[in-house]
Amino acid sequence: MIEQQHVDAVVVGAGFGGLYQLKRLRELGLTTRVFEAGSGVGGTWYWNRYPGARCDVPSVEYSYSFDDDLQQEWDWTERYATQPEILSYLDHVADRFDLREDITFDTRVTSAAFDEDADRWTITTDGGEEVTAQFFVMATGCLSNANMPDIEGRDSFAGPTYHTGQWPHEGVDFTGLRVGIIGTGSSAVQSIPMIAEQADHLTVFQRTPTYAVPAHNRPLEDEELAYVKAHYDELRDANREMGTAFGGWLEHNDIGVLEVDEATREAQFDKRWEEGGLAFLGAFNDLLLVPEANEIVADYVRRRIAEKVDDPDVAAKLMPDTVVGCKRLCVDTGYYETYNRPNVSLIDLQDTPIQRITPTGIDTAGDSFEFDAIVFATGFDAMTGALLAVDIEGRQGRSLREVWSAGPTTYLGVQVPEFPNLFIISGPGSPSVLTNMVTSIEQHVEFIADTIEHVRATGHTTIEPEPAKADEWVAYVNTVADFTLFPRCNSWYLGANVPGKPRVFMPLPGFPGYVEQVDQIVDNDYEGFILA
Ligand code: FAD
Ligand code: NAP
Repeated sequence: MIEQQHVDAVVVGAGFGGLYQLKRLRELGLTTRVFEAGSGVGGTWYWNRYPGARCDVPSVEYSYSFDDDLQQEWDWTERYATQPEILSYLDHVADRFDLREDITFDTRVTSAAFDEDADRWTITTDGGEEVTAQFFVMATGCLSNANMPDIEGRDSFAGPTYHTGQWPHEGVDFTGLRVGIIGTGSSAVQSIPMIAEQADHLTVFQRTPTYAVPAHNRPLEDEELAYVKAHYDELRDANREMGTAFGGWLEHNDIGVLEVDEATREAQFDKRWEEGGLAFLGAFNDLLLVPEANEIVADYVRRRIAEKVDDPDVAAKLMPDTVVGCKRLCVDTGYYETYNRPNVSLIDLQDTPIQRITPTGIDTAGDSFEFDAIVFATGFDAMTGALLAVDIEGRQGRSLREVWSAGPTTYLGVQVPEFPNLFIISGPGSPSVLTNMVTSIEQHVEFIADTIEHVRATGHTTIEPEPAKADEWVAYVNTVADFTLFPRCNSWYLGANVPGKPRVFMPLPGFPGYVEQVDQIVDNDYEGFILA
């Protein structure tokens, strides 16, 4: 018989979310176990070790704000920190707050079932361990479940294959190799220039061209860092007031591109292009709302691509005709320029789709390519993938997979009806992936900790949303999304990158509006939640 351990809370995942959640639950006096599939902390930054991986939000903002000593003592070295630097930051956080002793590594949670008699969750791991807990927090990440496309013959390739989100810890030396890479999203945009420098030849398979703005990454000067540290509170406050919660100090213009003349438009775009980074889309307030406005900025980026790429045919293939910002904008260092290298070629899959992977390479409708290695930069089963990979059963044995078969239903992106005391960090229905995620994660972790404290302080044992409130919330998220241009392309926000996944817009645009609603619900005595 399996011996059960009983704790107050179980948290799954030890990335930005899980680490902070553990700290907060401990502070409430809850005995807490964290399970993490990886061998170390870091989540995204533990797994995504591909060359060129870094953050797309400035490092000083892509970091925890909950502890002033922590933000004062940590010195970011670059505008956009590399994956190793972010990982060492999260290692530092784990050590500084003594978090490791409650984390069980190399252990995947496989199932969780709610016991209605005991009002507790029973959580089972792939190591055969069973733990019961009153509270169950999924900090499993929006982008942690790698998407390996189901291409015919995928496993027949004789050489090594890599997914950017599961990169070998020892690194990969592509020197002298013929490499094929599938995908042109953020991970590809970061890794392609680096792989091209090493490989004998790199062939990029592009299904949809991407919009990338320059990062203009650079070392952070001592004075800059000192200024940030002296004004950290203001920076964080400014962040939280922005729809996306990033780029705190960059002015966001409260005027539409359609309201100004061409010279003003160009000057504003030029300024932001030279400055670099995601705040490019803050140039005007209608870019993500009005198709004609978006077309103006799209045209601007296409012209920039044409300037950077020598061969007009290649440049034309790299120019997207979709909505800018409809997928998360990529922040690049030398991406488009890489196509000027003689050892890089671009295959447009819209002309010649991939037909199969063979033992020696990739066959498209037009050609046969031989490779020594293949890289899948094909993204993730985002937002719901890691949640549904666990067999979760709520009241009356209801399976989360079945309940969400037509798309995820949550209240506030945090809780699901009939799954009491289950909390999701940055779940579908919350701003999550449309923001600086550390800011969103902190807000969720604090809300979850406060909610658990409230449940206990008021003498209740469970909390879950009213089903009608969750339905209203899903409708609300769709209404807000439909007001924007986000749903107008085949993005992973919609689940469109995974064949067969329900097409539902999952994140909620607008961080400050969301926080205001959450605060109001709390003030109204947890309106829409059932406390029992
Ligand atoms: P994660 O960091 O994904 O951690 C989840 C953890 O849960 C993982 O370690 C995983 O192993 C574990 N886990 C999952 N399922 C189980 C299970 N069943 N059992 C045990 N363990 C499990 N966001 C930004 O805002 N700015 C950026 O610049 C940025 N850059 C990114 C770059 C890359 C390459 C990627 C992939 C994402 C990026 N993101 C960025 C999004 C990023 O995922 C978040 O910013 C943040 O790191 C998420 O933290 P998390 O703790 O919620 O999830
Ligand atoms: P992604 O944005 O989903 O990109 C995946 C790429 O693979 C797309 O170009 C996609 O084409 C292509 N693809 C998928 N399946 C394919 C198939 N069967 N055949 C051909 N092409 C296929 O994934 P990602 O690049 O890993 O990024 C995911 C998210 O992680 C980003 O949006 C961002 O939020 C975060 N991220 C951030 C950074 C950063 O700059 N800090 C870096 C990496 C990731 P389609 O577009 O046609 O689907």
